[in-house]
Amino acid sequence: MSTAQLARNEAPWRPADAADLNARYEGRGDLALADVLTDPAFGEVALVSSFGADSAALLHVAAGIRKDVPVLFVETGWLFPETLRYAEDLSAWLGLKDVRWLRPDRGVLEAKDPKRLRWSYDPDGCCEVRKVEPLDRALAGFDLWVSGRKSHQNRERAQLQLFEGQERQLKLNPLHDWSSARLRDYAVAHKLPPHPLVADGYPSIGCSPCTSRVQPGEDPRAGRWRGWDKSECGIHKVGSADGGEPVF
Ligand code: SF4
Repeated sequence: MSTAQLARNEAPWRPADAADLNARYEGRGDLALADVLTDPAFGEVALVSSFGADSAALLHVAAGIRKDVPVLFVETGWLFPETLRYAEDLSAWLGLKDVRWLRPDRGVLEAKDPKRLRWSYDPDGCCEVRKVEPLDRALAGFDLWVSGRKSHQNRERAQLQLFEGQERQLKLNPLHDWSSARLRDYAVAHKLPPHPLVADGYPSIGCSPCTSRVQPGEDPRAGRWRGWDKSECGIHKVGSADGGEPVF
């Protein structure tokens, strides 16, 4: 970090540096995560988690480095009760010290989703109000955020990079090249508690009205927004420099 940057309290890594960082950390998502969580050169860092089916691995790796990393969890008001319990239990099991439950703004909900039915006719608008806006507000104070997305999860994520540059922040996807087998092996090796709905046929878990069971051979995210031309919620479009695919 340069003296001038220190004086301005700025992180030296900017969104435009994503390509340089990808070259520097190619194939080393573990090292990238360790560095962003411990090196002040990356500025203020938060981890974003849905406490879904595959969330435990990233949280476990991060907790092994820094238990006080801020973890942002968007509680939309429509999550399964099993997810809420899992978020509490897994946070305690991992010893995470700073899990922040984010909620939609009450006034916005009253104006835009007064009957709690927006998911049924405008899921993009519902996700905007219940997920994107609360997270966007919370991320305003951070220079970099860490996501648990993996490139094997669906077609939209196939080209996922380790670092992504956004308008205001850098984003790190340290598990982007993990296969489902590697995730499974990691969970077994570390005895990670599974989300209770996985055994019930939900390999990807979001809000209850928009998540259904997945049949053998289907894409793991096929149960999300089934019947709609929508596979992502928009959270990963937050501040995106390229206006890229909305994802969560
Ligand atoms: S996943 Fe469904 S219920 Fe949840 S915010 Fe999006 S549209 Fe609304």
